[in-house]
Amino acid sequence: QKAEWSKLVHEQTVTSDGHHVELAANIGTPEDVKGVLANGAEGIGLYRTEFLYMGRSELPTEEEQFEAYKTVLERMEGKPVVVRTLDIGGDKELPYLELPKEMNPFLGFRAIRLCLEMQDMFRTQLRALLRASVYGNLKIMFPMIATLDEFRQAKAILLEEKEKLQNEGVSVAETIEVGMMVEIPAAAVLADQFAKEVDFFSIGTNDLIQYTMAADRMNERVSYLYQPYNPAILRLIHNVIDAAHKEGKWAGMCGEMAGEELAIPILLGLGLDEFSMSATSILRARSQLKKLSKEEAASLKETILSMNTAEEVIAFVKQTFHIE
Ligand code: PEP
Ligand code: MG
Repeated sequence: QKAEWSKLVHEQTVTSDGHHVELAANIGTPEDVKGVLANGAEGIGLYRTEFLYMGRSELPTEEEQFEAYKTVLERMEGKPVVVRTLDIGGDKELPYLELPKEMNPFLGFRAIRLCLEMQDMFRTQLRALLRASVYGNLKIMFPMIATLDEFRQAKAILLEEKEKLQNEGVSVAETIEVGMMVEIPAAAVLADQFAKEVDFFSIGTNDLIQYTMAADRMNERVSYLYQPYNPAILRLIHNVIDAAHKEGKWAGMCGEMAGEELAIPILLGLGLDEFSMSATSILRARSQLKKLSKEEAASLKETILSMNTAEEVIAFVKQTFHIE
């Protein structure tokens, strides 16, 4: 099987009925790009920049960040690279920011919430990204967006920094898509409104599931509620993809679910455009997608979305697609 998969490294991901989907990889550092290319990813769907900030005693400088972003963009040779701005807080702490302990860190001062308040830190990252943008195909994504206002504020700050750089004579790529993670249920519900303002969505199921089911993704005692195949989750995903398409935008997924064998036929049927996963899952996913018909997967959509439980969905998908 491994041998069969390795033949797919340089192939496009086209379904049996001729539809192309993009298979991208999630990375944490520039060193990860080697594995991304070796496994034939068509792009990077999530670059988690928090690792640049972790395991050290002070913030990374603009120059350090610029070097990291430039390296990733250059190594990807024009393939799309979605960089997520700092997503700290929750399970990821930065001791040197000396933030007060919170009762519910996952519901607290994290990610874009923190960046919109600690603007010097945010602007430094955005400048580094904008300067690096001329070295490849950069797309910028904001994490943990709950309201339109947050997205607008973040985008306005980005445009301010872009203008400043241009006034300083620094060149910045002409078109940089600006999108958001959909990982908070409120954003998934209002996806039609967000879709008018973003260039793309990337669905973060790791968080979207925990927030929708109100079940901590790290707490084993409630892990039975952490259900990617719960129809409530699938309907939210459906809503997000549809909303994007109605506005002519693309929708991807960068949560763990995007790489799951059982999820792939469902997501294909819902019309997902981009699947971003760990590099080591790419070839298995490509082999699976090439055998699937998108039309057939789409014809099962209503049946799956009207099911009552995750168990029902799982049993149906296993049987229909001969999985396991
Ligand atoms: C997610 O929430 O699905 C996601 C991709 O982000 P992270 O796992 O970094 O929170
Ligand atoms: Mg997340």
